[in-house]
Amino acid sequence: MPPVSDNTGPTDDLDVLVVGAGITGIYQLYRALEAGFSATLVEAGAGVGGTWFWNRYPGARFDSESYTYAYLFSKELFDEWEWQEHFAEQPETERYINHVVDRFDLRRHMRFGARVSAAEYDEPTGMWNVTLGDGTVLRTRFFIAATGVLSVPFFPAVEGRDDFHGQSLHTGLWPSTPVDFAGKRVAVIGTGSSGVQIIPAIADEVASLTVYQRTANWCTPLNNAPITPDEQRQLRADFEAIRETLNTSVSGFLHTAHDRATFDDSHEERQAFFEKMWNSPGFSKLTSHYTDLLFDPAANAEWCAFIADKIRSIVSDPETAEKLIPTDHRFAEKRPPFVTDYYETYNKPNVSLVDLKQTPIVRMTANGIETAEGVREFDIVVWATGFDFGTGALARMGIRGRGGLALTDYWADGPKTFLGVHTVCLPNLFFPGGPHAAAGNNPRYNGDQVDFVTDTLVYVRDHGYDVIEVSAAAEERWTSMIDRGAALSTSFGESSYFFGTNIPGKPRKYLLNSAGRPKLFKEISRVRENNYDAFELSRASASSR
Ligand SMILES: Cc1cc2nc3c(=O)[nH]c(=O)nc-3n(C[C@H](O)[C@H](O)[C@H](O)COP(=O)(O)OP(=O)(O)OC[C@H]3O[C@@H](n4cnc5c(N)ncnc54)[C@H](O)[C@@H]3O)c2cc1C
Repeated sequence: MPPVSDNTGPTDDLDVLVVGAGITGIYQLYRALEAGFSATLVEAGAGVGGTWFWNRYPGARFDSESYTYAYLFSKELFDEWEWQEHFAEQPETERYINHVVDRFDLRRHMRFGARVSAAEYDEPTGMWNVTLGDGTVLRTRFFIAATGVLSVPFFPAVEGRDDFHGQSLHTGLWPSTPVDFAGKRVAVIGTGSSGVQIIPAIADEVASLTVYQRTANWCTPLNNAPITPDEQRQLRADFEAIRETLNTSVSGFLHTAHDRATFDDSHEERQAFFEKMWNSPGFSKLTSHYTDLLFDPAANAEWCAFIADKIRSIVSDPETAEKLIPTDHRFAEKRPPFVTDYYETYNKPNVSLVDLKQTPIVRMTANGIETAEGVREFDIVVWATGFDFGTGALARMGIRGRGGLALTDYWADGPKTFLGVHTVCLPNLFFPGGPHAAAGNNPRYNGDQVDFVTDTLVYVRDHGYDVIEVSAAAEERWTSMIDRGAALSTSFGESSYFFGTNIPGKPRKYLLNSAGRPKLFKEISRVRENNYDAFELSRASASSR
């Protein structure tokens, strides 16, 4: 069903202001309009796509299967978009998101190049005054920050970073005009999920490629492939079943869970299963693996030993191979990257690896990078150094709630949330796709949250209220459940950026939903069954309704 509300005036008082034109914010705008609210979306970037607008570096692509990441709210949309590959590359995803926006006539409700720099809650009216970078102030009843968990690129504090005279690029802020790598001396700093995608993608084009690795990661093959015409037909035929699985599965993927533990199998059976896993698509190495992979350190070590042997068998230089094998964390303690020809790239004569644990970067110079071993000169330096995960964007919006309380003060020791969408003292503000939400295929979790937020706003409106705020007790219950769950071995470990570990000074608090999606479903049902009693509902004293 297309959106019904047709407000176009972003300067009018709004029912709903959405921030962020990523996969979450676009769906939130769609749902708000469909529910009859006047709504506008503002986006800092010049176009839609969020992650898929900013991360346009060579090799950027999904780790989720394309059709499982896509929107599921419209069968017609699902039918008419033919994904080319099981794991689509960035340009295809950006095209898809633009198609959705035009297909549902959402663009006229959007404003680009509009970065929110301040947002203040006005207690007497229960409205938010939201200031954009150009000084425009928008007034809105409900303020929904769909600002993403990976939308604030992070640069490590390397001395002289600005002294470098060549081209300096962050994977998460990639220019929209093509970068000419041909014949260039290129450095890539960082070997997380983005670094390991760009490295093989540019290796053949550049004169030389030097990879600066801080942490070796447990990379396994993505196993991407084009979607055949038969598979396309099957996807369409199975739409209802696919939607049902994706809407209910624990991690929002289609992969089937395994039913055996590592040591149920003999050594030979185990090696055969590991081989099958190695050749399986993307995240199934987590979701379809032995049931004890994340619980039993001995089981995890078996799989790690298998990957280490794979690395040694692929990388011809033994010294380079050893540098590429992690020694400081188990598989899935950090977010495991998925790769295409990554290890093979180190066999190319123009590619070399610098282990920053052995030879840290001393400083950037005008011409290159200086380590303890001297200066290497470069034309281009690529910073694949990640993001201020989870809370980064929310912390940079100048949000002040009841009594002028700054969100950054309230969250000084880490985020406190209810269901990962709302927090005390910020009435009428929601942040689907923010901290304490995800633990799998993002659009599925974020979509659950958008649906919940929309239904909540409808409940508030239809019951004659205009202010909603979660109770401190409900927030405390959800947050302490997240923190308790984070200590379990099934969660990513404390060395992961999911704890904010990559950002100096950031509190070490778990930023995903450690209890998983079933707990989110359960709590959402509980809220509904109990008529939203986790929230306090009221009318603002100066309400105009
Ligand atoms: C390279 C890469 C690959 C990924 N691959 C996958 C994958 O395969 N599967 C998966 O599930 N997840 C993946 N992710 C995670 C990804 O971030 C989420 O899937 C998804 O993009 C979340 O969508 P979103 O709309 O919540 O946030 P985003 O896509 O990050 O969009 C948020 C938007 O908010 C805007 N914004 C932020 N602050 C402000 C402000 N103050 N004012 C105005 N606008 C603002 C940003 O500009 C951005 O456009 C990947 C992430 C990266 C970086």
